[in-house]
Amino acid sequence: MRCLRDLLEKAQQSGVAIGHFNISDLVLVKAVFAAAREVNVPVLVGLSEGEREFVGTRQIAALVRSLREEFDFPIFLNADHTHSIAKGIEAAKAGFDSIVFDLSALPIEENVRQTKEAVEALKAINPSMLVEGEIGDIGTGSEIHESSPDLSKGLSTAEEAKQFVESTRVDILAPAVGNMHGMLKSMVEGETKKRLDIERIAGIKRAARVFLTLHGGSGTDDEDLRKAIAAGINIVHINTELRVAWRHGLEHGLAKQPDEVVPYKILPSVVDSVKQVVGSRLQLFNGRHVGHGA
Ligand SMILES: [Zn+2]
Repeated sequence: MRCLRDLLEKAQQSGVAIGHFNISDLVLVKAVFAAAREVNVPVLVGLSEGEREFVGTRQIAALVRSLREEFDFPIFLNADHTHSIAKGIEAAKAGFDSIVFDLSALPIEENVRQTKEAVEALKAINPSMLVEGEIGDIGTGSEIHESSPDLSKGLSTAEEAKQFVESTRVDILAPAVGNMHGMLKSMVEGETKKRLDIERIAGIKRAARVFLTLHGGSGTDDEDLRKAIAAGINIVHINTELRVAWRHGLEHGLAKQPDEVVPYKILPSVVDSVKQVVGSRLQLFNGRHVGHGA
């Protein structure tokens, strides 16, 4: 089994990106894993601090490891949006493959200082764990927002990206390039799309020379995602789209069988609904068109 760093190198050389999907229950894990096996591409599952608290940090690590080993399949585990070294150490000790250390809400000097400390502390526990740092403002909360926050002042610059990477020695950088956490109602309806600053991504890639992650990918224009990957994005995060599909799948499953109480007869509707979203996103990130198959 190749490690996550090798797979990211390979994706970069092939001009594709690895999909990252947030999970907070077994149904979501099943859906993401089934979709990745069908498209036959490596995949990352991630859990924020809140998601880890619900599922259990060591428990999810054991589950993902068991899938990886039993099926000899490249599924990796990321500690998404971690705000303290203590929470990071907990994930590193549990065996997470990567971590998003997110102090982007702090002034940049403080973000640099603490991210550098985190890189050293986490690599001391697991030298092969990849550490991602965050700069700029992409909003918070992978949920449905009433209105769009003004993130224009928080866009990342190439110079800032270069300095941050050089000072902290992160393996992966998450910049603010027009992306945003969560979705607007109009995006869920499919009436509007998020648009990305492709030139900014290309400039940051040239300057920072590290793997780049795009957070808040839900509801983004497909063509912008293709261009962003071509410009240097290596990992794309999708969370809200899965949460919307999860809820729709559950509502559908309950409505279809109003008297059913057996979870494993109701929940396959949720797996199917989420799997469809993950499959189509994985095809897009891997430069495949629906219908051409794997
Ligand atoms: Zn994120």
